[in-house]
Amino acid sequence: MRVRQRDLAARVLDFWGVRTPAFAPSVLEPGDRQIVSINAYRLWATRDHRALAKKIAERDDVIIIPESGYRQIKKYDDDVTLEDIVEIQVEAGFPIVASFPSARVEDAITNARLAREISSKPLLLEVERSWDYDKIKVFTDATAGWAWGYALASEDPKKVAELAKAMPRNKVLVIYGIHHPAVIPVLAMVGADVFTSGAHARYAQRGDYITEASIRPVTELQELPCTCPVCKNRDPSDLRSRTDLIELHNEILFEEEARKTRNAIAEGRLFEYALRRALTHPALWGRFLEALKGETLEWILENMPFPKNASIYRFDGLEIRRPEHILGERMVKRAKVPVEWCAYTYPFGQTYPPEITAKPTPEQVVKAAFRIPWGIDPPENAKWVLRHGIPRKILVNGEEIGLIRFEDGFFVPNIRGAKYIMEKTTPPHRRVVVDEDGVEAVRERKPLLSSYVLDVDPELRPNMEVIVVDAEDNVVATGKSALTAREIAEIDGIAVKIRHRA
Ligand SMILES: [Zn+2]
Repeated sequence: MRVRQRDLAARVLDFWGVRTPAFAPSVLEPGDRQIVSINAYRLWATRDHRALAKKIAERDDVIIIPESGYRQIKKYDDDVTLEDIVEIQVEAGFPIVASFPSARVEDAITNARLAREISSKPLLLEVERSWDYDKIKVFTDATAGWAWGYALASEDPKKVAELAKAMPRNKVLVIYGIHHPAVIPVLAMVGADVFTSGAHARYAQRGDYITEASIRPVTELQELPCTCPVCKNRDPSDLRSRTDLIELHNEILFEEEARKTRNAIAEGRLFEYALRRALTHPALWGRFLEALKGETLEWILENMPFPKNASIYRFDGLEIRRPEHILGERMVKRAKVPVEWCAYTYPFGQTYPPEITAKPTPEQVVKAAFRIPWGIDPPENAKWVLRHGIPRKILVNGEEIGLIRFEDGFFVPNIRGAKYIMEKTTPPHRRVVVDEDGVEAVRERKPLLSSYVLDVDPELRPNMEVIVVDAEDNVVATGKSALTAREIAEIDGIAVKIRHRA
């Protein structure tokens, strides 16, 4: 698993050729899709289920996200056991196996253990939506060793954030059964990775067509508001009683939403995109606002890349503070920097339309550049070279110690500057401490992996400038963090992108 991009608490993961946030349509046969979800009970209940399972097992080019079908079993077929459901998944060659959820945590753990014993495959474990954070944590702690990921059948961002926070960061978070594509960016904001739904087919069965903002009978439309291959040269009347075509259009809309969400994350504009999508329905708007409150907001702030190389749009009159501004205000306050000094400093200097119109002096810009990201003052005898009236190169005794980066107004030290920062601070402040293999990797220009890390600043977050040091606090390199402090311990991957080597 690789974290390719991130924004807010969202991430673009790469696993087995699939990129997240991904949409996995609920189907019984994968067709030419790359990722699908299959309900094991539906498969089991199909007349030719053995032949179908055999056909699925032959496919190694598709990722199957399993669902146990536990709710349908409770409703229609109480005799079906967990053994039956696990066996059909093994027979169909599912790479990941779903267990039964349970209202009681202990029972859900017992089910997971049994599913693991029967199948020996990694598990996708469903978390009950009635559980609070503490219960979820007991469950994820007990099962993380066998889990590929965790699933939740809820569109509540607070619940999703609780699960994202409780589970290890190297697991995949699946949302079962979403009702409309517009949910995808809003739940991706708090860390959901894969979305399953059978709604595209269910709606099509009753002639319902998904539009950008709603779901309505295709017969009520004047014109098809879509240019997908199904709709391009057709009229609503052409889709009357064409369940297959409506279904295909509906599925395309879910898929397109996942794609646009990934793109928004890559552009650093997930907030704007989710906001725009949330405005399509009052209920979704409520969920969007819910994601920006209390512990859910704190979860976003903990994972959010900061600074970010994308301008930040401000929408007056919406009465929403963006997560970037909330974190920026906290940092400015702690660094004892008047916000008027931040006309060039992230996130205020990158906000459009600008919030700060006061023009800071070069000295104020330099102080903000050191205090906000590093928590220290610039060297007393520091001099600077102006570029377009803004301090750029920072010099001490005629020697350069680093630059103030134009994009975010933060001081980016070279090795000389890193040594100054180390003198003024105590470990592990703004440090990533690495073992001998880590020192060796830096020297050989190999990736600095999280497995080399001995200790980190607990405030570490993606995009933060850090100093890589050895166990004796000698500067090894400077660079940009790719992970949060917690992820360094939980995700195998590149920890720091190296900028300067000592
Ligand atoms: Zn269409």
